[in-house]
Amino acid sequence: MAYDNDNIFAKILRGEIPNTTVYEDENILAFNDISPRTPIHVLVIPKRPYVDMDDFVINGTPEEVSNFYAKVVEITHQLGLKEDGYRLVANTGKNSGQLVPHFHIHIMSGRQLGEAGMTAGMKGIDS
Ligand code: 5GP
Repeated sequence: MAYDNDNIFAKILRGEIPNTTVYEDENILAFNDISPRTPIHVLVIPKRPYVDMDDFVINGTPEEVSNFYAKVVEITHQLGLKEDGYRLVANTGKNSGQLVPHFHIHIMSGRQLGEAGMTAGMKGIDS
C-alpha cells in the first residue's frame, strides 16, 4: 500500500493537528491517544512515512528499527510503567482493523488488562 500523506498522523507530524506530546526527538513522536481505552494510552510513531509495522521493519534501516523499539521501551520507563507492566499493540494489515495508515505502536497501561486476543477488535487489546 502506498503511503497516504493525508493520514491523520501525517497531519499531526506537520503540525496541522494538535497533539499532547509525551516524547519527541528527530526520529520519533509519542503522544496521547485522543480516545484512550486505558488510563495510559500513548501512541509512538516514527517521523518517516511507513504505512504499518511490516513496511517499517522491512524497509527501515536496521538502526532505525532497533532505535525505535529501544525508544518505545525507554518511553514506558519514563511513563513509570516498568514495574506494573504494559501492553504494546501494532495493528498491521487488513485483518487487524488498523485505522490510521502510519505505523504506530500503542502503549497501554494504568490498570489490569484482559487477556490479549481473546475478544475481537480493539476490545481485545484493552478489555
Ligand atoms: P489503529 O486502529 O490505527 O491501530 O489506531 C489508531 C489510533 O489513533 C486510535 O486509537 C485512535 O483513537 C487514535 N487517533 C485517531 N485520530 C487521532 C487524533 O487526531 N489524535 C490522536 N492523538 N489520536 C488519534
